[in-house]
Amino acid sequence: MFMAIDVTTGWETVIGLEVHAQITTDTKMYCSCPSVNSTELTEANRYVCPVCLGHPGTLPRPNRQAVVRALTLALKLGSQINERSVFARKNYFYPDLPKGYQISQYDLPLAEGGELPYWHNNAKHTARLVRIHLEEDTARLFHLDDGTAVLDYNRGGVPLIEIVSQPDFHDPAECVAYLDELRGLLQRLRVSEAAMESGNMRCEPNISVRPRGSTELRTKTEIKNLNSFATLRRAVEAEAQRQIELYESGQTVHQATMRYDEARGITVPMRVKETADDYRYFDDPDIPPLVITKRLLDSAGEDVRASIFELRQMMAEEDGISHEMAATIADDRILHRFYRLCCKDGHDNREVAKWVTGELVRLLREKPLRTEPGELSKVLGKLKSNELTLPQARDVFETIYLTGKTCEAVVQEKQYSGADAIPLEQVCREVIAANPQIVADIQAGKTNAVQVLVGAVMKKTRGGADPQSTRQLLLRLLNAG
Ligand SMILES: [Zn+2]
Repeated sequence: MFMAIDVTTGWETVIGLEVHAQITTDTKMYCSCPSVNSTELTEANRYVCPVCLGHPGTLPRPNRQAVVRALTLALKLGSQINERSVFARKNYFYPDLPKGYQISQYDLPLAEGGELPYWHNNAKHTARLVRIHLEEDTARLFHLDDGTAVLDYNRGGVPLIEIVSQPDFHDPAECVAYLDELRGLLQRLRVSEAAMESGNMRCEPNISVRPRGSTELRTKTEIKNLNSFATLRRAVEAEAQRQIELYESGQTVHQATMRYDEARGITVPMRVKETADDYRYFDDPDIPPLVITKRLLDSAGEDVRASIFELRQMMAEEDGISHEMAATIADDRILHRFYRLCCKDGHDNREVAKWVTGELVRLLREKPLRTEPGELSKVLGKLKSNELTLPQARDVFETIYLTGKTCEAVVQEKQYSGADAIPLEQVCREVIAANPQIVADIQAGKTNAVQVLVGAVMKKTRGGADPQSTRQLLLRLLNAG
């Protein structure tokens, strides 16, 4: 098993994780500039305005969409949502922060507590959370080869969600398993794209070591902005090793912010860690307290509010769908809405679950949703009444999804008339009659040649026939003949 440190040293590593993820929104956290992923950009400083550049006299206004998305995550993680939370100024001077302060949350964050179950080494673990809060990202600061520093403020003011865990991890592999679970969850709930490689999910571990068997928490250090699992592993190991060596040589560890030097494989101090006092936090006088109304909570999803585990359980037990499908559907607001509404229309639960976790999931990866559950319901209805075959139904739903047309319009356009209208057996007989050589091959034992006939039937029926049953029907007719 992968261990952070050599067990023979008698030291244990204690790790807590702070994760920052860019919330998927149309606009920035406190202004109406488009919020774009930094990697999508070509032109620097294109999306800026007086608010996100911190001009005097401008007023920030929190982004409702960001609040709702953050609430969705908080509900999902079972965190205690503060009915009233407060935006605070975190004061420090740095060129990537034009206001001279970052608007974050401090005393009263959006949500506190909660937990995230995850799997590691075939065992279920539970990471306890400290808090979830909203804040804004800083601009990007680059250094050119000649030493000039340049700034791109496109990222300045983009909404971030910060998720802080308890120091519950003892091994980098555990951290990775947790982060992987969190990343998947952020993506499934559509809270964030959570792509570490493009920097819209970043991780800052805080690390301390203690004699194995002890429960004390010694002085911790924090490593800034790690954006891959591999770097995280190496950085945590290097920092734990550094601390162990300090203690073993009779020295002590000082609270500090560290940076991981990839080339040298060591952690180096960036600055002695500011304490909260150094940031002189105070409530932002420009933004009233954030009051979480019932309407906001409803927007964040009644499905998530009802315990997601209960929902999964109920779907698996009462609806009779597989636990795997239930988990996929329960985790996702869009999938669950489609599932619920199509089932309500009287369609078979298992059939709906198959479509939602299959076709719909596949299409959602291709293009954002603009189809109503009612359209899927109509397709399922036509499938049930044999007005459409299964391949036709899939094709119709895909066309509806991609074009935004209605079910009726698509069916008419494609002139699909369903299984009943296609005399499959007749088509098969025609194809058999037209291909005597292939028929002879099949009867001589080359059964694979039947695929040629299946292909011909598919062509004649414009994809209307089901390949599997066509194959069976052809073989039956040939054996009989
Ligand atoms: Zn702006």
